Amino acid sequence: MRRVVPSLALVLLAVLIGLGPRPAFAEAVARSADAPAVFDNYNFCVASVRELFAKAAALALAAAKAETSSPVPPVVSVPGVSAPPVQAAPEEPASDHVTVFVAKKIITMDPGWPEATAVAVQNGRILSVGSLDDLKPWLDKYPHDIDNRFAGKVIYPGFIEPHGHPLIGAIALSRPPLTFFPLANPYGPPFPGVKSKDEAVAKLKEYVAQAKSPTDTVIAWGYDIVAMGGHLDRAFLDQITKTQPLMVWDASEHFVYANSAAIEKFGITPGVVAKTLGAGKLPNGESNGQFLGVLAAEAILLKPLQDLLAPDQALKIMKYLADLGQQAGITTTGDLMFGGINLELEQALAKTFFDRPDAIERVVPVVDGATFAKLYGDQAQQKALDLKASSNDRIIFNGVKFFSDDAFVSLGMEVQNPGYIHSDQYKGLFLFTSFPAFVQAMEPWWNAGFHIHVHSNGNAGNQATIDALAELQAEHPRFDHRFTIEHYGISTPEQARELKALGGIVSTNPYYLYARSDLNIGQFGTDRASLASRIGTLVREGVVVSLHADTPVAPPRPLEEVWIAVNRVGALSGQVRAPYERVTVDQALRMITIDAAYTLGVDDEVGSIEAGKLADFTVLDADPRDVEPMAIKDIPVTATILGGRVILTADTRKP
Ligand SMILES: [Zn+2]
Repeated sequence: MRRVVPSLALVLLAVLIGLGPRPAFAEAVARSADAPAVFDNYNFCVASVRELFAKAAALALAAAKAETSSPVPPVVSVPGVSAPPVQAAPEEPASDHVTVFVAKKIITMDPGWPEATAVAVQNGRILSVGSLDDLKPWLDKYPHDIDNRFAGKVIYPGFIEPHGHPLIGAIALSRPPLTFFPLANPYGPPFPGVKSKDEAVAKLKEYVAQAKSPTDTVIAWGYDIVAMGGHLDRAFLDQITKTQPLMVWDASEHFVYANSAAIEKFGITPGVVAKTLGAGKLPNGESNGQFLGVLAAEAILLKPLQDLLAPDQALKIMKYLADLGQQAGITTTGDLMFGGINLELEQALAKTFFDRPDAIERVVPVVDGATFAKLYGDQAQQKALDLKASSNDRIIFNGVKFFSDDAFVSLGMEVQNPGYIHSDQYKGLFLFTSFPAFVQAMEPWWNAGFHIHVHSNGNAGNQATIDALAELQAEHPRFDHRFTIEHYGISTPEQARELKALGGIVSTNPYYLYARSDLNIGQFGTDRASLASRIGTLVREGVVVSLHADTPVAPPRPLEEVWIAVNRVGALSGQVRAPYERVTVDQALRMITIDAAYTLGVDDEVGSIEAGKLADFTVLDADPRDVEPMAIKDIPVTATILGGRVILTADTRKP
């Protein structure tokens, strides 16, 4: 290990030079204390949002199938999906020609051969890595050329997002943003975030002014109720415009706010308001513009969401997120609930978007256990195995996903022992009907040898997940099963140890620490809020950990995730949160490369620079191990290389 955890003094210095607490942030912390009243006991469970997407997707697919004529020939013939976002390049014919990429430094993630300066690639795979001299036996045998473009750069294995949502995450992220925290934008400067309702008004006015036609519906996404301290309503949005349909969709995706024009356009009459749970009303019975909870959100959002999920539109939206991922160095993404919205539509979109010679990333779809059980009954595992058998090196099906408790950010997770401070308002929510039913749902998949991923957040949710793993192990012991807790928000050291004993692994979301720890102090205490994403303890126990963004929870930015894991600074306070849970830069870099590949079960193909593996690289301006720890997140990504094909970041910045 070359670099130890940064000293407290360094972090404090960074805070002093302007990364520290700002007055607006202090206000946000104060506002977040009012959050319990804002949520009003609505059930904002993650699974319920999925129902909304599923309904819209079914409508979008039916509409696409009904439309027969398509002027552009499809890349692959999939019913309902007409045009690719860009025309596919022809497949490169196999050849024995070798390309050698030369760099200032190549970090391989192979512990026995950690650094190099040249890597030889043939037919999309790594032939050899070392110095130019080391490569000589291969270069004597094959015709080759030397690519010196990155001679001054640092090459890492391609970064891996082990928990992404290429379609659902993209829909939210590609809307006009109204987030509290800054948000990356692939085609322009990052959105700075809105820190007050006045700033939100100004930003919404801009979006309305930019609308292409006065009847277009403007939907801004990402309003943060906890940080902003309250719901919006019709009167608020009417001060921006009464004539252009305008909606705000909150970051948890359970709350929608609409102005008068949107209420009228989507037929929200007093009759609809009266029969829709969560639809707020004015004294005269008209909508007050609040649609709180997924049933109410559906009443006004279903049609616009259907339009966004129309295949041609959805493909453009997927490109938005993929371009953003490329600019952050990502070459492989997981799709952690494949089929959960609409299996047919998702399959068509994945095939069209990812399975093409000019694709800019690979995808590892992890199928949704509940959906497959519902669609196929006792044939569910066989259907998933059939998909797995259809894999190629662009779409690699592997694993199955289940849910334990609810979401971290919206405070729906099960926190116990002790529970939430506002326990009168928050109970948390398990997403299974009973513990035996939870274990039973996973059993056939476990017995069939699948990698199981379980969404699990609160300390009670994590305990239930670990207990379930213990039952599965007792019944049918397995080695190398890669049972993964996804997220692991609030946990204990005992859970880390138990997980190690059972062979479990963790993919954690470091933004629970960075973006939410300051805000959550009022919800479950300084200690547990600071200990969110407890990575150091897991590493000390020898549990394999990977880092993810779970877009739209955060945009995919692996180097920022490394930066969080190494520094553990709260975004609002600028304070170091639970410094003993920090890890070294080397440890954190494994969590976005080889250990992320391990989580997805694709470490035999990607995640490190080794002979035989796919030639996926990320080209950086500097080595994260050599810069100040607080500067890691700002290292520019020059390019990614996918199967030996160079994708320049400058090119994906053009829409
Ligand atoms: Zn997710």
